[in-house]
Amino acid sequence: MSGIASRLEAVRSTLPEGVELVAVSKFHPVEALREAYDAGQRTFAESRVQELVPKTEAMPPDVRWHFIGHLQRNKAKLVVGRADLIESVDSEALLELIDRLAAERGIVQRVLLEAHVAAEEAKSGFEPGALLDYFRRGAYRNLRATHICGIMGMATNTDDAARIDADFAALATLLHDIHMAAPDLRGCDVLSMGMSDDYPAAIAHGATHVRVGTAIFGPREY
Ligand SMILES: *Cc1c(COP(=O)(O)O)cnc(C)c1O
Repeated sequence: MSGIASRLEAVRSTLPEGVELVAVSKFHPVEALREAYDAGQRTFAESRVQELVPKTEAMPPDVRWHFIGHLQRNKAKLVVGRADLIESVDSEALLELIDRLAAERGIVQRVLLEAHVAAEEAKSGFEPGALLDYFRRGAYRNLRATHICGIMGMATNTDDAARIDADFAALATLLHDIHMAAPDLRGCDVLSMGMSDDYPAAIAHGATHVRVGTAIFGPREY
């Protein structure tokens, strides 16, 4: 078994049933993705459009691609319809643009809204209050070709386990509060949180999807 196949198996063995493993393959070559594919992995995530596009063309068609990076408006066209799930929608303007592009193409684009709960200011995403306000206003009802499937978030990058726990708890609470604010919302149940260093804690707080890169593919060379 290759290193990637055995690490993939090791990660999988720790996941409870019902938690989906998203293999974060950014900065890794197609050969590495192939090894994971041959070991049965079908969901991969990329954070840069210029990597997503050639990889979708090089990999088999049954791969489901998630986009997890900051998406610039002028590149949205390349991602809509190509990514099965855009996890990193971080503004209403981007959401509206995606909706317009998806409607033009006659598809339904699945997305997650990215929520910012971590201590770092640099990390992007909706503030929890702004996200709740979006649902309270019922703005999602104007979307024609976009399905909001849930939320995505990251914990603070720290060794402080209590802070990480608090961040994941805040994300779980936020999804619950969204359901309360928008009782007519359907199919908005994805809670994507947890990375290589903290995914067990994310699962303990109800993650449905974990995004694991380094623990499968090894360190990235930027
Ligand atoms: C890179 C990245 C990950 C994976 O991080 P690892 O620590 O390598 O597991 C998960 N989520 C997002 C949004 C990322 O950008």
